[in-house]
Amino acid sequence: MKKLALHWKILIGMLLGILFGFTMTFVSGGQDFVVDWISPFGTIFVKLLKLIAIPLILASLIKGISDLKDISKFKDMGIRTIITYIVTTVIAITIGLLLVNVFQPGNGISEETVAKLTETYAQDSGVQSKIAEAGAQKERGPLQFLVDMVPDNAINAMSENGLMLQVIFFTIFFGISMLLIGEEAAKPLKKFFDALNDVVLKMVDLIMLIAPVAVFALLANVVVSSGDPDLLYALLKYALVVVGGLFLMIVFYSIVVTIFTKKNPFWFLKEISPAQLLAFSTSSSAATLPVTMERVEEHIGVDKEVSSFVLPVGATINMDGTSLYQGVAAVFISQALGHHLGLGDQLTIVLTALLASIGSAAVPGAGMVMLVIVLEAVGFPADKLAIGLALIFAVDRPLDMCRTVVNVTGDATVSMLVAKALGKLGVPKEKRWDDHYEEVK
Ligand code: ASP
Repeated sequence: MKKLALHWKILIGMLLGILFGFTMTFVSGGQDFVVDWISPFGTIFVKLLKLIAIPLILASLIKGISDLKDISKFKDMGIRTIITYIVTTVIAITIGLLLVNVFQPGNGISEETVAKLTETYAQDSGVQSKIAEAGAQKERGPLQFLVDMVPDNAINAMSENGLMLQVIFFTIFFGISMLLIGEEAAKPLKKFFDALNDVVLKMVDLIMLIAPVAVFALLANVVVSSGDPDLLYALLKYALVVVGGLFLMIVFYSIVVTIFTKKNPFWFLKEISPAQLLAFSTSSSAATLPVTMERVEEHIGVDKEVSSFVLPVGATINMDGTSLYQGVAAVFISQALGHHLGLGDQLTIVLTALLASIGSAAVPGAGMVMLVIVLEAVGFPADKLAIGLALIFAVDRPLDMCRTVVNVTGDATVSMLVAKALGKLGVPKEKRWDDHYEEVK
């Protein structure tokens, strides 16, 4: 047991959590027990991860930029990153659309099932709140996202959840200014941020000690909170199309890693697996970010200059799994409710799912809010939106878990590609966590 690698420990925690949650569904009062006494440990873990995200971005991005010898490289990195993110997202949506059109999961679903799902979920507060949130998003002007990126209060940007792009903006601005005042003048600050970076990485190490127990709690809670098994079964074909598409994306990343970085894709997947497992357990790429950064830097060998920019930006705007899901879900709902989609509509889905995934927050269930906007873009009647969402609501959490894995894997892949292109993909450092985990134990 002592020699077990971190990803095995997390995996065992997850499996035991699923088993435990499943058993508790048969015990009277079992569900309440899990919610009251087990789930809080998962919540604490997620809070701890989120707690260090901002200090980690600050410290590592400032360190990354101030280590830069040449500022023009930063521009090059920015452009490459954004273009690669857009390309991978469009590929993801295309894969999703191809699969959903070939397998047509929405056409086989019976009227009775539609009626049952509608009755169960259309008035559910979860569905209603997503429609309301999407309404608020739609009010925004076309350039509002640029305005939102610029903070007017740095402390506020750091203190509120979901303002990661503002923090990144402030940090890059700060780091570049630090470069401009010259090495000598910036020396004390650089030392400070170097040390801060080490401290935050140590905090990540310590938090990861409880990861196996935390994922147990998170998954036990997911299992006891899941809906009626019959309804889940009715949506199996749809769920399989989404999961199949997500799997193809992982294959796609593996091919890209092999071709462009000449690395073994199995090695890549193994090294980032702790981040993938946490993405699955937490359904949040924002909460997983500290772990993704650690894995990519320490175990894959991506230079901090690259990872500290590419990964936080990716966690916020690059969601390949989410965009694929939005494409499949939009077509599935249209098929099931008889809303005809032409070729033009499918192209509209590519564009809107790209924007919608960029706009989705990196938190559980955010992809479904933006799905409303994709549906509206293809002329889906507003009065049927609640019914549409009700159709997929029952399986949304498990699919969210899977798409978050792809979101995180996509970010890690792009960080490798960008690092390789800029000559910043080196040899991974010591296996900080796996060894350290044993050491501390
Ligand atoms: N949960 C996803 C993430 O954090 C977003 C979503 O698709 O809902 O990456």
